[in-house]
Amino acid sequence: MPELPEVETVRRGLAPAMEGFVIARAQVNRPDLRWPFPPNMADRLTGKRVLQLRRRSKYILADLDSGETALIHLGMSGRMLVSGDPLGQFVHSHPAPEKHDHVVFDMENGARITFNDPRRFGAMDLFATVKGESHPLLISIGPEPLGNAFDEDYLVEALSRRNTPMKSALLDQKVVAGLGNIYVCEALYRSKIHPTRPARRVAKDRIASLVPIIREVLSDAIRAGGSSLRDFRQADGELGYFQHSFDVYGREGAPCRSTGCTSTIRRIVQSGRSTFYCPTCQR
Ligand SMILES: [Zn+2]
Repeated sequence: MPELPEVETVRRGLAPAMEGFVIARAQVNRPDLRWPFPPNMADRLTGKRVLQLRRRSKYILADLDSGETALIHLGMSGRMLVSGDPLGQFVHSHPAPEKHDHVVFDMENGARITFNDPRRFGAMDLFATVKGESHPLLISIGPEPLGNAFDEDYLVEALSRRNTPMKSALLDQKVVAGLGNIYVCEALYRSKIHPTRPARRVAKDRIASLVPIIREVLSDAIRAGGSSLRDFRQADGELGYFQHSFDVYGREGAPCRSTGCTSTIRRIVQSGRSTFYCPTCQR
C-alpha cells in the first residue's frame, strides 16, 4: 500500500503534466471505486484548469479553476500512469487501454493520466475548495510530518497520555498524517524505541527524538522516489512504486545493521500487521 513518500512521488510525477493545464477530456469508466464517484464527475472535470496539485497525507488534491478540488486516493493497488509528450518530457506514446483503467484525463498538452486500480480500494471525490479540510476524509487527520506543526512539543503532548503501543500510536492518523507500517517500523528502529512499549511510558526526550527521525526517514524515501521519477521516463510511465532499501522492514532473520549489534531482526504481529524490530537495539 502506498505511504506518504510514494504518494508524494506520484504527485511530483504528475505535476509537470497537470499543473497549470486544462483537462481537455475526463473519461470515467465506472460509477465507483471504493465509494461512488460524485455526480457528473466527468463533466465537472472536463475543461477545467488544474491550478495546483497538492498532497495532504496520502491524498492528492487537484485545485481546479471551477472552485472545486479533486481528491484522489490510490488505496491499496491504485497506480497512476503518465503517457504522451507534453513539454517534451515524456517519451511514451499512449498505451492500449487496460481493463482496470477507471479514470483517464487527457490534458490539453497531450499528456494522458490514467488511474488504474485492479482492487478498487482507491477513491476519487470533488468538493468545494473553500471547504478546505472539512472533507470527511481529511477532517480528522493530524499534522503533516514534514510540516511546521509537527514538532517536538506537539508529539510529546500527543503521546503523553496514550497507553497504546508506540507502533499503534504512530500509525494513528490523528497523531501524524500519512505514516504507515513500513515507515513507522523504520522510524522506531532509528530511534531505538521498542514497538510494543506503551507510548506514555517512553521518556519525553526519546519521543522528541522521533520528530527529526520521522522527517529523515520520509525525506530519504522521497529522495529515492525522486530517483525513480528520473528513471520512469525511460520505463513504462508508471508512478509511485520504487525500489527502496529498509533497515528493518521485511528483514526478519537478517542481521541488525547497527554497529556492534549481533542480533537478528525479529517480526511480530501487532493489530494484524507485521512489525519488524531489533530486540537488542530497541527498548
Ligand atoms: Zn540491533
